[in-house]
Amino acid sequence: MDIAGLIESTVFFLVVLALIAVPLENLAPLVRRRARRAGLACDAVHLLLTKRIGDVLAVPLIALAGAVLRPLAVPQEMQAAVAGQPVALQVLEALLIADLCGYWVHRLSHEIGPLWRLHAVHHASENLDWLATARQHPLDAALRKCVKAVPAFLIGFSYTAIAWFAAASLALSLVAFLVHANVRMRLGFLEWVHISPRFHHWHHALAPVNRNYAEQFPLWDALFGTLHLPVDGSWPPAYGTSQPVPDGWLRQMLHPFARTARPTGEARERPG
Ligand SMILES: [Zn+2]
Repeated sequence: MDIAGLIESTVFFLVVLALIAVPLENLAPLVRRRARRAGLACDAVHLLLTKRIGDVLAVPLIALAGAVLRPLAVPQEMQAAVAGQPVALQVLEALLIADLCGYWVHRLSHEIGPLWRLHAVHHASENLDWLATARQHPLDAALRKCVKAVPAFLIGFSYTAIAWFAAASLALSLVAFLVHANVRMRLGFLEWVHISPRFHHWHHALAPVNRNYAEQFPLWDALFGTLHLPVDGSWPPAYGTSQPVPDGWLRQMLHPFARTARPTGEARERPG
């Protein structure tokens, strides 16, 4: 952990706090609760440390994959054709491909035991709000970052397009704080175009949670049969996991290796 990384995490925290969390959760809270909720300190540690650790693990792997596998992945002629498209089109394509990969790595994180043990840390929050976004195991964060980023290198997008794709991905990562927020926000037909707080809150509903895996576009859930967005406008009655995840940052780091958690799919419960 370097000082620059810690400063970057702190600035990220302050920007999120100022722009999204405080105004929205106070103007239109979904659930009125005390500011000092259970797990607040643990989630604050996650916010400062977990993303940075995940980046430290993932960035070298992405760079290595880009350097070693890019020349082998697709024919040179195809790479040239991909890189020859307008940059804006390349960025849009890279974002769609990354979101499709994000859908599947997220879904498999619910269906494969070892991956679920990592991802369960994120689903442990019973009080969903913007800060709960940060509760994540760094191996889970690193895996998802790699799966979403590596294809952009392998397909042959130009390095200019990849740089814009990385910047757009960072900006879109702020959406994650919005969709976890404790905010009663309805977006009308846009809820079917882009994920919303209600869309993602249903993903965090206390079992079953085998639905709404997309990180940007509900299109993937609609295509693969996992979309759940009740037309009555309802929200989940409760959040969390059926199997307990311990409190405390260090215990949550060790929890995936305790061999007690099952994938959510094992519950065999279907969306109601
Ligand atoms: Zn999940």
